[in-house]
Order: sequence, then C-alpha cells, then structure tokens
Amino acid sequence: TLNGKTALVTGSTSGIGLGIAHSLAAAGANLVLNGFGEVAQALEAVRRHGGEVRYHPADMSRPEQIAELVAFAESEFGAVDILVNNAGIQHVAPVEEFPPERWDSILAINLSSAFHTTRLALPGMRRRGWGRIVNIASVHGLVGSAQKSAYVAAKHGLLGLTKVVALETAQTAITCNAVCPGWVLTPLVQQQIDARAQASGDAAGARRELLAEKQPSLEFVTPQQLGELVLFLCSEAASQVRGAAWNMDGGWAAQ
Ligand code: NAD
Repeated sequence: TLNGKTALVTGSTSGIGLGIAHSLAAAGANLVLNGFGEVAQALEAVRRHGGEVRYHPADMSRPEQIAELVAFAESEFGAVDILVNNAGIQHVAPVEEFPPERWDSILAINLSSAFHTTRLALPGMRRRGWGRIVNIASVHGLVGSAQKSAYVAAKHGLLGLTKVVALETAQTAITCNAVCPGWVLTPLVQQQIDARAQASGDAAGARRELLAEKQPSLEFVTPQQLGELVLFLCSEAASQVRGAAWNMDGGWAAQ
C-alpha cells in the first residue's frame, strides 16, 4: 500500500500518465497531476479513488515552472515520495527536415524535465529516507526508428540519466528505474495512425500496419498495464531493482 505517500506524475492528464496516476491513487497515494488539455476530467477521475489529488499546470519545457511544480507538491504534501517522469511529445520527420525548434522542445520535455524534477525532488526523498523515481522512457530508448531523431535521442538520454541517478542513490532506499513501452494507443500514437490513414485512406489498415511493423504481439500495451508495472517498481519487492530499463513492448525490442 502507498497510503501516506505522495506521487507526482508529470503529463498525467492523458494517456499513460493518467493510467499511472490511477494505479498509484488506487494503491492509496496522494497525487499531484500535471499536464494540459482535459484537466478537470482527469482530476475528477483520479479523485474517485478517495485520496487527495492536486493539479499544477507547469510547462515541462520550462525549468522555472518545473521548480514551481516540485515546490507546490512539497508544500501541499510535505515531499514527493514517488516521482514519475512521464510528460512527452513526438515529432516525425527526416533529420534534414526536422525543425530545430521541435528538436529543442522534445529534448526539453522528454529529457531535461526529468533532470530538473529529479534534482529538485531528491533532497526531500533523502530527508524522508525513501523514494521511487520512475522514468517513462520508451522502446525508443533502446532502439531507433526512422524519422524520430529527437525522440530517440531524448529517450536514449533518459535511460542514461536513469542509470546515473540509480548509482548515486544505490546505498539508500531510493530507487530510480525506467520503463520502456512499445505502442500504447494514446493521443500521441493516434496522431501517427491518423497521418498514415491520411496517406493511405484506410484507418483500420493504418492501425494494423503500425503494429505489424514493430510490435510482434500485434496488440497495444495499455496504460493500465504500465500503471501496474510502476506500482511494482514502487513496492518493497522492487527495492533492489535499480537502474533498470524495463520493456513492456509486446516483443518489439526482442527482434
Ligand atoms: P499523451 O499525448 O496521451 O500524453 C502526454 C501528456 O503529457 C499529456 O498529459 C500532456 O498534456 C502532457 N504534456 C505534453 N507536453 C507537456 C508540457 N510541455 N508540459 C507538461 N505536460 C505536457 O502521450 P502518451 O502516449 O501518454 O505519452 C506519455 C509518455 O509515454 C511520453 O513520455 C511518451 O514518450 C511515452 N511513450 C508513449 C508510447 C506510446 O505508444 N503512446 C510509447 C512509449 C513511450
């Protein structure tokens, strides 16, 4: 049980982050949600588990707003015990056509934000003598795909950060690990399916092809399944899982 623990999940108004927030709240944690879009809906849904839920609108590409987010979580609940770095965006284009400003924002949101939340939340975890940092990387932290230079670079970087933080906390009750999902049917992936469907005129076919190209199970991973994996990493049973990059990818990286 995570009763009395506080979890901060970045980018938790949608998709995987929202799924993880549900799992942590169901296990008894207090939650700080973050992200854009359907904020009221996400808050209402996560509150149904009965714990305390707060929201902060920090833009994870902005270090000063990230500092406000962590300070908010600490002032509301005392400390961040569980930090899930999940906020992320995608852009698909060949490297020579990749807009430099998209490169910068993907690196900022998908990689640098985790550096900032981690450096700011760790002192509180050390004070309380316990902590869990879970970085939502991707199978693209392990292997590349064409047209995803910024995303693949950021996710490979996130696995590097995960290992270093795991080493720096190795002799404490704080662990740092990464999760590497394959395709999950969220708005981030729906955009890529829509782009393919527009090119081919076949929506169902576009979804089938997306899976068939990369994911041997031919099934999407779900946010609920990822939430359960994060719960395991937050458990005492996982206290010696450190610096891991844990795939949940329908076999993608086994090829
Ligand atoms: P999503 O688009 O459904 O959700 C992204 C969340 O991040 C939303 O809550 C959004 O509001 C928030 N967000 C975006 N930019 C932000 C910013 N600047 N500041 C604060 N919040 C911001 O996407 P998702 O598929 O749930 O992705 C979540 C994470 O999982 C990402 O890091 C993504 O790279 C990773 N991931 C996704 C898949 C997949 O197949 N969907 C696979 C592997 C990894």
